[in-house]
Amino acid sequence: MSSELLRQIPKTDLMLSRPALREAGERYSRALVKAAVQSQLDALRDAAMSGALTEMPDAQSIEAAVLSSLEHGGLYSLRRVINATGVVLHTNLGRAPLGGEAAAHVAAVAQGYCNLEYDLAAGRRGSRYAHVEKLLCELTGAEAAMVVNNNAGAVFLALNTLAKGRGVAVSRGELVEIGGSFRVPEIMRESGAELLEVGTTNKTHPRDYISAMDDYGAGMLLKVHTSNFVMLGFTEEVSVRELAQIAHERGGLLMHDLGSGFMFPAEALGLHDGHAVWSSLRDGADIVCFSADKLLGTAQGGILLGRRECIERIKKNQLTRMLRIDKLSLAALEICLQYCRDSQLAAEKLPTLRMLSMKAEECRERAEALRQLIAARVPGCEPRLVEVGDEAGGGSLPGVTLPGWAVAVDFPGLSVEEAEARLRARSVPIIARVNRDGVLFSVRTLFERDGEELALAVGELWGKEK
Ligand SMILES: *Cc1c(COP(=O)(O)O)cnc(C)c1O
Repeated sequence: MSSELLRQIPKTDLMLSRPALREAGERYSRALVKAAVQSQLDALRDAAMSGALTEMPDAQSIEAAVLSSLEHGGLYSLRRVINATGVVLHTNLGRAPLGGEAAAHVAAVAQGYCNLEYDLAAGRRGSRYAHVEKLLCELTGAEAAMVVNNNAGAVFLALNTLAKGRGVAVSRGELVEIGGSFRVPEIMRESGAELLEVGTTNKTHPRDYISAMDDYGAGMLLKVHTSNFVMLGFTEEVSVRELAQIAHERGGLLMHDLGSGFMFPAEALGLHDGHAVWSSLRDGADIVCFSADKLLGTAQGGILLGRRECIERIKKNQLTRMLRIDKLSLAALEICLQYCRDSQLAAEKLPTLRMLSMKAEECRERAEALRQLIAARVPGCEPRLVEVGDEAGGGSLPGVTLPGWAVAVDFPGLSVEEAEARLRARSVPIIARVNRDGVLFSVRTLFERDGEELALAVGELWGKEK
């Protein structure tokens, strides 16, 4: 069956000789068109081999797919996708999206030169960190701040600077793995700090930390947000305030890897969970670090806040140079922080916050609008509204379900898996949600412009089978 299908795949040269593709070659360059044809044919070969494809599309459809991929940047490996999963900070889908104005600001900085490390007032070399340090301090009350390329880098750098060759006490309940690659014990070993495990998985008491410092010589206590899981039942952990007191009475430091946080109380967004990053500082942590691309809602980055002497030492660490943030992420971070001066403005301008604070009622209205759009565009299709539990994702609000709504669509003649795969194979791929209700488009994570594209995609899949 599959070998018969493979034989039906047209030859590249035959495709390239078609008038529409010859003409496209003049517009885009022949080399690009050839690459687009090959990538289209490769995808068909893969689909035929895996059994996802049961019938070879004709040359005309392949040609249309090639043209569409050229037009929509489908030739690129890294490209825009439509997130219909309802997972707001989807780590596999690039975490926090930027809003239009933020993206335009980044583009403006990218399109020419910028004062990345140039002090405009003095007319000489400046610091890349200066662009956001003051803002971060204003927003959080921190004495000092700096940013690096991600939070894993921030944790590593802080440990390497402040605890290399020293014992660092961490609760056994917080020795987590995040995103499959960030493992607290391993980061700690690589940083040169010595891990002192304290307490048990479910319970850690103040006396456990005290003993680590008094009996085993720990110089730092580290608290880690257990980002991607929650422990229920018989559990106990020590608060930041208590840990700070224990550390400071013994001349040690307290670091809090918060993972993710807001610049204002979660209640300002109508959420019941999620830390304001300054609460840890206020409670006495010497260093607090978190990702820029989780709840804060901007491009990739790791933010360090804390006591001036700690931050100054971190800045002087040679490794900082290897973990530095790039100018585009920095531009995105600065505009995000400007928005954060006002929680209402931030909730309006930052897509992540807008999506997180979207109430079920609004999701329902959006889902209904999408349902009507699809029904109008695709005669015969009867899309349904389905209640779903959306997620913050990115390990940012573990255990929190965001009540949302989705549109479910049936594709006659296609299995749910086949429909999901075809949506994913489009030049603007659609990442849908699949469960016992079929293929679902959760509306929380959709942008305004995505509706038309979704309706078009549903129409094409329907048309195929008619
Ligand atoms: C996500 C996370 C990290 C890693 O942050 P990146 O920005 O992805 O490098 C580290 N610690 C905690 C607690 C996290 O949640």
